Amino acid sequence: ARASLKKLKDQPATTRDGIEIALHVNIDLPGDLGQVRGVGASGVGLFRTEFLYMNRRALPDEEEQYRIYRRAIKRLRGLPLTLRTLDLGADKGTQAEITSSISPLGLRAVRFCLKEVDLFRAQLRAALRASAHGPVRLLIPMLTHIGEVHQVRGLLARYMEELTHEGKPFNAKIPMGGMIEVPSAALCSESLASHLDFLSVGTNDLIQYTLATDRIDAAVSHLYDPLNPAVLRLLAMILDAGRRRGVPVAMCGEMAGDPLFTRLLLGMGLSEFSMPAGALLEVKSIIISSDVSKIRHRVHRLLKKHDPLEIADALETINRL
Ligand code: PEP
Ligand code: MG
Repeated sequence: ARASLKKLKDQPATTRDGIEIALHVNIDLPGDLGQVRGVGASGVGLFRTEFLYMNRRALPDEEEQYRIYRRAIKRLRGLPLTLRTLDLGADKGTQAEITSSISPLGLRAVRFCLKEVDLFRAQLRAALRASAHGPVRLLIPMLTHIGEVHQVRGLLARYMEELTHEGKPFNAKIPMGGMIEVPSAALCSESLASHLDFLSVGTNDLIQYTLATDRIDAAVSHLYDPLNPAVLRLLAMILDAGRRRGVPVAMCGEMAGDPLFTRLLLGMGLSEFSMPAGALLEVKSIIISSDVSKIRHRVHRLLKKHDPLEIADALETINRL
């Protein structure tokens, strides 16, 4: 099966009825960037930057980050790099003193960055400077309300001004996207979409927060269910908001890389998936074998169901088509 999947590498991810799907890769470590072209992906949909803290007490300064990001862009030779700003939190990072004290409902991700503005400044300036060398998109994690988007935009404008004065080049039109991974952001995704260039759904956290179920606690893993109707309704809302505002919606949580959910997501209208490189060709094989015009009405009926078990049954039928 591996060998036959490999043959799909250079084939476009187009459904039977001609819908083009973008398949991107999630990258946790710069050393893994070679996998992007290796599986024929169209870019990096999620470049996690928590590695910056690995085996050290402080973040690298602006200059070092700039060099790391520039090297990443060079390695991608023209493919887009979606650089997610620092997402420190309970389940992230290796800097025990910093991260162990951050609860999932605490000062994590963009909240932390907006408080530690010096640290955020170094990262945003480094990312801006790197954007002079290739297609970079910024992605802001853990947004919970529109005010955070305005704050980040304000900081970006200030750093752009600084760089202009210093004569350092950057892309003034750098796209800025937001992660939708908190119920409040999903419920208000239309207002977020109207102030962002793209949305990316982080299902790992969205499921955790919607279902009040710790994503790393094995004792409640039976409750951690992507097919819970509450989760599906939020996903439908987010995709709807994107369509209404003409803003692209991607998904970079684990759900996007699980072949069990590929047809469900296609039927809901998702057209950009980002996942670990190892999952990409199998997901592509399902996309190629799917006729969305035949799936769509079944998915819509599935979305009206209330019982996760019934939903799972309906999905199994769709996946067998
Ligand atoms: C997510 O929450 O789905 C996500 C992609 O971000 P992370 O797994 O890094 O929290
Ligand atoms: Mg997350």
